[in-house]
Parts: sequence; C-alpha cells; structure tokens
Amino acid sequence: LLQLYQPLNFFGFIYSEIRQALIDMDNMFDLLSLAREVEDRPGATTLRVAHGEVSFEGVGFGYDARRPILDNISFTIPAGKTVAVVGASGAGKSTLSRLLFRFYDVSEGVITVDGQDIRGVSQESLHRAIGIVPQDTVLFNDTLRYNIGYGNTAATDEDIERAARLAHIHDFIKSLPDGYETRVGERGLKLSGGEKQRVAIARTVLKNPAILVYDEATSALDTQTEREIQAHLSEVSRDHTTLIIAHRLSTIVDADQIIVLEDGAIAERGRHGELLAQDGRYAAMWRHQRREEQTVD
Ligand code: ATP
Repeated sequence: LLQLYQPLNFFGFIYSEIRQALIDMDNMFDLLSLAREVEDRPGATTLRVAHGEVSFEGVGFGYDARRPILDNISFTIPAGKTVAVVGASGAGKSTLSRLLFRFYDVSEGVITVDGQDIRGVSQESLHRAIGIVPQDTVLFNDTLRYNIGYGNTAATDEDIERAARLAHIHDFIKSLPDGYETRVGERGLKLSGGEKQRVAIARTVLKNPAILVYDEATSALDTQTEREIQAHLSEVSRDHTTLIIAHRLSTIVDADQIIVLEDGAIAERGRHGELLAQDGRYAAMWRHQRREEQTVD
C-alpha cells in the first residue's frame, strides 16, 4: 500500500503545486486586471515621465461599440495634484482608471501622460509609472513581506518596512507572532478589508510611481478605518499625481478638483466648496451622504 501511496502522494504534491501556481497566476491577472485587450504598437517608445501630468482629451469609450460608456471626457491632473471622480454606480468612474492603465484603448480622443499619447508607449513603461490601489486587493498565498515587496525585486527589508510604516500597517504586522513572515491569502491569515488596502498602499509606496490611482472600496469599511486610510493616503499621495475614484465624499473634500460623472459625461466640476455653493448634483449627493452618516453614527 505504501508503494501505491507514495506516488499518489507525489502526484498530490505536484497537483497542489500546479494549483497554487495557477492561483498565483490568476491572482496576478486579477491584481493587474490584465484584460490583454491591447498590444504594444510596433516601435512603441518608453514613456518619459517628467512631472507626471495626466490629461484626458475628448475621451469616448464603450466596452461594446453599441453601448457608449464615456462621452467626451476632458480633464487634466496637473503634476502632483489630486483629481477625484464621483458619481452613481455604473457612471463610468472605474472605467477611467482602466483606460489610463490602458487595459482598453479609447474609441475617441486621447489620454496623455506628460504630453505622450499612451497608445504610443510600451505598456511596461506605462505600468511602471502608475500605481493602482484597487477596490479589492487580491493577496498572494505568501508572506506579508512578499505581498508588499511584490513587483519590486530590488526592495530590501528596510524598504519594505519603511513602506509598511507609511501605510500604517507596520505595527499591526509586528504584533503578529510571525511578523513579516506571516502567510496571508486564502490559505493563510485572513486580513480585513482595511488591512488589505493598507498592504496595497504599502506595495504602491514601495513602487513609488509618479501617478497614483486609488479606487476606493465600495464595500463600506467602518468609518474609523476609512478615516485612517484616507489620512494615510493623503500622506502617500503628496507629491504624486493622484486620481481617486471615490464612493464616499468625505474622502475627497481636499481634492484639487472633483469631477461629477453622470451617465458617462461630466456633469459638474470644481472644488468641494465651489460645488456645494453651486447647489447642484454634488451638493445633493453631499447632503444625502451626511444624512446617511448621521443615521449610522
Ligand atoms: P461603481 O461605482 O459601481 O464601481 P463605476 O462608476 O465605477 O461604478 P464602471 O465600473 O466604470 O462604473 O462601469 C461603467 C459601466 O460599464 C457599467 O454599466 C458596467 O456595467 C459597464 N462595464 C464595466 N466593465 C465592463 C466590462 N468589462 N465589459 C462590459 N461592460 C462593462
């Protein structure tokens, strides 16, 4: 029986290794949400990031040509500034970040980074310049150290700890019996939504991209965690060109510009105070969220 068991056990091992590799690959594709819809153009150049200014000019897009999602979107995020996008579910907010990362190509208009059409540069160089903190961070079935350092092979332990401190996850990690060696993911320690987002922030800090995209989680984190993450994020986004896809307006009161998307078009834009003074859609959304928060508090 042992003779039979050993090979079976061996195949079981191989199977679990293969399965793990597939999960990792799957996670990676999820992580980067690699739609693989676009290819580098022949002769694609390397993106030259001078300051990190991002510009959408007359952008139109639909996942299906028969159903337009975005129409004539124009806005600029000056280098180091923060633009926040708000709007009802399905308005097309996350689609903007997918287009910037070039998972899909625009059907009209152009997106530029420091004046270069992103369709003309290699995806590798574009992705190096942009760090995304996604809505739902997928963690690898590996250690916290690996999960933070992922994507930055040159990172030392000190670099990883510094990033974790900035993302305010270092103390939590140190409090775990295995510290940075703690395994997380499906087969390890389950982290809360807020902890996962902090790992994602640490990963992004380590990558130190010129452009930061923060896709706020739709699932409500508790108010305290939300405030903390917000505080950490504004620390991290200082000096970075930042696009925030926001669901909670309290996150973005300090943004340099707020864009209100409605049915794929820009309905309003301005700073928080200006939009409140306009007393239009944003002001109505603000009042609505305040009322909800007060009911919850
Ligand atoms: P939410 O606040 O709920 O995250 P959102 O404003 O970010 O919404 P998007 O994710 O940009 O909305 O989606 C805009 C529209 O595009 C939605 O109607 C959605 O159904 C559609 N859509 C999103 N992704 C795809 C896809 N991969 N294929 C086809 N349609 C899609």
